[in-house]
Amino acid sequence: KQRNPNEPEFLQAVEEVAQTLLPFIEDNPKYKNKMLLERMVEPERTISFRVVWQNDKGETQVNRGYRIQMNSALGPYKGGLRFHPSVNLSVLKFLAFEQTFKNSLTTLPLGSGKGGSDFDPKGKSDSEIMRFCQSFMTELSRHIGQFTDVPAGDIGVGGREIGYLFGQYKRIRDEFSGVLTGKGISYGGSLIRTEATGYGCVYFTECMLESKNEKIEGKTVVISGSGNVAQYAAEKAIELGAKVVTMSDSSGYIYDKAGIDTDKLQFIMKLKNEKRGRIKEYLDKYPEAEYFEGERPWSIKCDVALPCATQNELNAEEAKQLLANGCICVTEGANMPCTADAVEVFHDANILYAPGKASNAGGVATSGLEMSQNSIRLGWSREEVDSRLKEIMNNIHSECVKFGKEAKNFTNYVKGANIAGFVKLADAMLAQGLV
Ligand code: NDP
Repeated sequence: KQRNPNEPEFLQAVEEVAQTLLPFIEDNPKYKNKMLLERMVEPERTISFRVVWQNDKGETQVNRGYRIQMNSALGPYKGGLRFHPSVNLSVLKFLAFEQTFKNSLTTLPLGSGKGGSDFDPKGKSDSEIMRFCQSFMTELSRHIGQFTDVPAGDIGVGGREIGYLFGQYKRIRDEFSGVLTGKGISYGGSLIRTEATGYGCVYFTECMLESKNEKIEGKTVVISGSGNVAQYAAEKAIELGAKVVTMSDSSGYIYDKAGIDTDKLQFIMKLKNEKRGRIKEYLDKYPEAEYFEGERPWSIKCDVALPCATQNELNAEEAKQLLANGCICVTEGANMPCTADAVEVFHDANILYAPGKASNAGGVATSGLEMSQNSIRLGWSREEVDSRLKEIMNNIHSECVKFGKEAKNFTNYVKGANIAGFVKLADAMLAQGLV
């Protein structure tokens, strides 16, 4: 705490991991004596830089850019870029720390990192976004590379932004390489990458439900967010026969009692991805739905909840409300959407709860598959990537059960994910000496 003042999100993430890991480390002196966890909480490198760009009125704007290069024991630094006004060192360090365990869990050769800027893409024109991305990459390009650090998207950074970033990297370095993932299919992207985090989250939900002899088919699902992760979690859940009744954005949520079907979801995707509109515009097309301004969807009755928007978006009160309404499974699509108190509520009630580092790892895993395809200069089919994604999510689930099973019918997925992720990484760090 003294070493990292004013970093509440980072401390929250570290405390959560330490709580489950410390007893394990205590029992395994080889990890304790070599200060493995102490090393893991310290980024290998933290880069902060000035991003100057011009808006459409010709006015000069200044933002701050970051890249946290957290851990390279397992492979090149890997993790997304976030463009959001709330971005600061604490948020990025928490995300980079979570990424460390997540990437280890995928079993792919991926180190960990995270980056971004306090730039707010909302309301910006396409040219402003492009100019910002070009300026951001002009500095970032000297710190990354296909064998060094391979960033991807996150909040506020989707296909459009990755395209502009990639174009600028290529121009500066005169090199066409797999330096970013989430690229367009025509220039080195992987099929299923766009869908992967949301799909993976639902595959993980299926695994958890299966362990209780339950299926997602017929279940009522509440989703927060309406961005990349939320959209594809909804798509997969609908495809598997679930009834999705809510989606949200930072202004509020929509509740469609009849269920958001494929056509309605298509409308949301167009609204969000092309028109860059607000979720409340759903009611212009589907007036029978309801809109709740400034609220979150956790009071709606459901069997499964998928928080897919942002950190700390589901607190203990809301967790209790979910339980009171009969919710049996909470799978995080976002990173750390549930507060520590909320997680405690789920654990006390013995319901299925998966932390994002396990259940949203499908995105980075498929980024890993994009890197493999770039290296062999081939593109795999949709089916091939999807089946690898499914297999990876199944494996992560099995690892969580292996290290997290506490009773015959209770798995602590937080403990499982933390220990499984830690062991692989710690062994690699030990083998590499004092790094
Ligand atoms: P997007 O930018 O595509 O979507 C984010 C969604 O969350 C939007 O609906 C946004 O609403 C909402 N949101 C953002 N900030 C807030 C806030 N402070 N309060 C309420 N709602 C908010 O991002 P992604 O879908 O890519 O990411 C969502 C989450 O998933 C993040 O936690 C991210 O770290 C995590 N994640 C993403 C991966 C990926 O592959 N994209 C991989 C693994 C994790 P609005 O439009 O109003 O801002």
